[in-house]
Amino acid sequence: MKPPLVPLATLLGRELRNVKVEKPFVKFGQAALAKKGEDYFLIKPDCERVPGNPETSFSVFAIFDGHNGISAAIFAKENLLGNVLSAIPQGINREEWLQALPRALVAGFVKTDIEFQQKGMYSFLFHHTCILFYFITLSFVLMTGETSGTTVTFVVIDEWTVTVASVGDSRCILDTQGGVVSLLTVDHRLEENAEERERVTASGGEVGRLNVFGGNEVGPLRCWPGGLCLSRSIGDTDVGEFIVPIPHVKQVKLSNSGGRLVIASDGIWDALSSDMAAKSCRGLPAELAAKLVVKEALRSRGLKDDTTCLVVDIIPSDQPVLPSTPMKKQNALSSFLFGKRSQTSTNKTKNKLSAVGVVEELFEEGSAILAERLGKDFPMNTNSGLFKCAVCQVDQPPAEGLTVNSGPFFSPASKPWEGPFLCTNCRKKKDAMEGKSLRSAVLLTNLEQRMVCDRYLVS
Ligand SMILES: [Zn+2]
Repeated sequence: MKPPLVPLATLLGRELRNVKVEKPFVKFGQAALAKKGEDYFLIKPDCERVPGNPETSFSVFAIFDGHNGISAAIFAKENLLGNVLSAIPQGINREEWLQALPRALVAGFVKTDIEFQQKGMYSFLFHHTCILFYFITLSFVLMTGETSGTTVTFVVIDEWTVTVASVGDSRCILDTQGGVVSLLTVDHRLEENAEERERVTASGGEVGRLNVFGGNEVGPLRCWPGGLCLSRSIGDTDVGEFIVPIPHVKQVKLSNSGGRLVIASDGIWDALSSDMAAKSCRGLPAELAAKLVVKEALRSRGLKDDTTCLVVDIIPSDQPVLPSTPMKKQNALSSFLFGKRSQTSTNKTKNKLSAVGVVEELFEEGSAILAERLGKDFPMNTNSGLFKCAVCQVDQPPAEGLTVNSGPFFSPASKPWEGPFLCTNCRKKKDAMEGKSLRSAVLLTNLEQRMVCDRYLVS
């Protein structure tokens, strides 16, 4: 039997005529099993672009997979959304809001990381008065988890537009009506991401495996100092600053036939491929689907890690559940018409699936260079004569921060800054992330390094 061509024609017609399609329903389910208790998640189905106006609603779903403690995961869960929203200009329309979102996500991730770092450093410096206290404090910091870090996969759904920002290795996949599964995130694992290995090495880090007795190398590739297997995260204040919080961001627009997102920590993805996860729960309501994905991961690998899964269905309002039957031929045609292959040259991994389907790709950028992510056009506050920092949004006199095209005075031995205004604090962070400044925390002795390494042997 020939596949139905009418829905595609309708879809095409609507796209071409730009007919307003009714808002979709967003239905979701969550399931989790804890091994270490370091996974956290955020579900905010009722956010509003304009407070008090339900017409401007959008939803946020996020997973935070913490390591070496829970502080960073909790801090990010509590602060990231607010920091992202504060970086979006006020009084703009929906289209402008969606366009501003990728940049605001970058600013919000970096701001959250700086705030967490400062929180840890204050307690560190407060106690750090002599060498004895230094070691006592380091132990204290390690025990209290102030040096913890977290992956973040942060999803914003506004009608049919899905924007995903991620650091680390918690993935978000999209299963469309065509039965094609695409990856909306990039894995920031040193083992699998050659481009990130190059970046970390160029910024002053060393990438290698752990040496155990007898000189044998074991485990995945890690970066030193610190011994982390991830190349991006929020937190990890005891690790080199080249472990950056700058997220990969991808924005897609679904067709009005909708789609399903599966957002999960690596406890799922170490056990299941994207296809397996999508197939294991097709045709089931979101709540049940999330439980089934976790069960399937457990069946194939056992409970080796924290395992958290969010399933989010974006469904046409006239259609209460997602149909489970793939429409392969229709999908192939529509991906030719709408989809384009992932164009970014950065952060390709062997696991990356080509982003085709009944999906329009609006934006994708994964660069770890702040100037490439923030643009240049952050305006001066004309009332006060102050510049607003593009990352943390504080106002500062131009002379104290870093303005567009600041020369070597601000960044010795580097090309002029081509990004927007940054305050003194955020400029320091930018330089550190690019390997242009040494942090005291990086100057660890061999003993301290080994103490740090020991923690990662268990993670
Ligand atoms: Zn700032």
